[in-house]
Amino acid sequence: MTQLDDRPTSSDTFTSLNPATGEVVGTYPVHTAADVDAAVARARASASWWEGLGFEGRKEVLDQWRGVLARRVAALVDVVHRETGKPHGDAQLEAALAIDHLAWIASHAKKVLGPKKVFAGLLLANQAASVEYRPLGVVGVIGPWNYPVFTPMGSIAYALGAGNTVVFKPSELTPGVGHWLADSLREVVPGHDLLQVVTGNGSTGAALCRADVDKVAFTGSTATGKRVMAACAERLVPVVIEAGGKDAMLVDEDADIEAAADAAAWGAFSNAGQTCTGIERVYVHDKVHDAFLDALTRRAREVRSGHDPAANYGPMTMPSQLDVVRRHVDDAIAKGGRAVVGGPEAVGDRFVQPTVLVDVPEDSEAVCEETFGPTVVVNRVRSMDEAIERVNVGKYGLGSSVFSASRGEEIARRLRTGMTAINSVISFAAVPGLPFGGVGDSGFGRIHGPDGLREFCYAKAVTRTRFKAPLNLTTFERTPEQDAQVATLLAVLHGRATQLPKRPLRVRRHKNL
Ligand code: NDP
Repeated sequence: MTQLDDRPTSSDTFTSLNPATGEVVGTYPVHTAADVDAAVARARASASWWEGLGFEGRKEVLDQWRGVLARRVAALVDVVHRETGKPHGDAQLEAALAIDHLAWIASHAKKVLGPKKVFAGLLLANQAASVEYRPLGVVGVIGPWNYPVFTPMGSIAYALGAGNTVVFKPSELTPGVGHWLADSLREVVPGHDLLQVVTGNGSTGAALCRADVDKVAFTGSTATGKRVMAACAERLVPVVIEAGGKDAMLVDEDADIEAAADAAAWGAFSNAGQTCTGIERVYVHDKVHDAFLDALTRRAREVRSGHDPAANYGPMTMPSQLDVVRRHVDDAIAKGGRAVVGGPEAVGDRFVQPTVLVDVPEDSEAVCEETFGPTVVVNRVRSMDEAIERVNVGKYGLGSSVFSASRGEEIARRLRTGMTAINSVISFAAVPGLPFGGVGDSGFGRIHGPDGLREFCYAKAVTRTRFKAPLNLTTFERTPEQDAQVATLLAVLHGRATQLPKRPLRVRRHKNL
């Protein structure tokens, strides 16, 4: 969404605007490739200090940072509110979740990443084996505007917790939030460049991908994710890509309908639908379809977008998203769908009111593409098998939600998505110990949880000779007798278990697979 010159100079600036009013919130530099390189060099200079603090020292810093964030959350919330337009309560919620993750990181990094003994195996019984996870060095984080605290912190905090320093490029819509986060950490450790912010447009992000970073963590659209990956490929820099989704909710015949409708309304409309794991489509069992639709439409009519304190959600943060939402609604209706709440007239010039679409063909944009707006498609299915099939043919695979009294876990396991909430929505994102990420066009790699810490490390394997091996395998002095001993050992250790059965193998079906 670059609106500025593609060839910025250090003197270029841009403004961040309040999307609800158009007022200027702040003015920031468009950092050039040279500026980005300099920031990465400073981050590298601080990296060995940060790594050298060890888990305990880093825990102390991260805990102090957490305290600063918690004590000053009102100020942070206000910047988020002004740059995204979201209500203060929602801004506070995302900050609270980010702080909770930070606490988990500080107290779990050592356990997850520290040295661990590994059984060396019988062939190498004379070796002591261990594995530990070492920081990569400098991580570049490219963040979005929809949750400008929670989402980038899922990469920033986990990268820091793993012992890396970070250069963060926030969305050009939310540079003030990025600065606020970096300034608050600098207060805890002045003089150390643990977290720096580079601001600008897409070209600044592209420069970060080409700078001397050791990994890039990207959140945004699939199309930009591919460009990020291509740029990183030039230097074989690894990437983690969190690229949005088209998350579905499945409502089974025995579901708690009121609870499902409540969750669908929140999942679809909160944050103006600008949530990568928001509910964009619902597949409801034929037997409960009408009751569910009735419960959802009742709620949708009570929810309202606006800039006043009583509004349930705010404006579209990115103005160009209004065209996407309008196009998806128009396409759904042109293809035979109906709006039972909202519709084309719900899409204003800054705000979009809740829209519920029904009977929308599965090949329409509102079902296949990420809308990122407060609209939801409700389609009827004859069975949960049919619903699962419809979810799994989609190109995205980020999150999903299942409402079922008896089959929740079975259905969840069959959905090709990185995360599933049973009888709730989006709850997986708030559990710090769980990995967050998707498959297919939703990207790859994981933030959050132990996987999220390891994502910003390389695994370091070490073996140490404890005593002279009776059977030394790695020497030119190995004899034919010793090779024969290896063959005997092999037959004893592995040959018996794999004797071919007299009759063809019948693999037992396991209940939990
Ligand atoms: P983009 O993918 O364009 O931008 C995401 C981030 O990448 C921003 O910081 C952006 O900077 C930066 N960027 C842009 N171009 C490049 C580049 N060539 N190299 C490196 N970084 C780059 O998303 P948009 O903000 O334009 O939103 C478009 C769509 O993406 C939405 O409609 C929505 O569907 C999806 N989206 C998904 C999100 C999610 O949570 N998964 C979050 C946000 C958007 P800048 O902002 O300065 O252009």
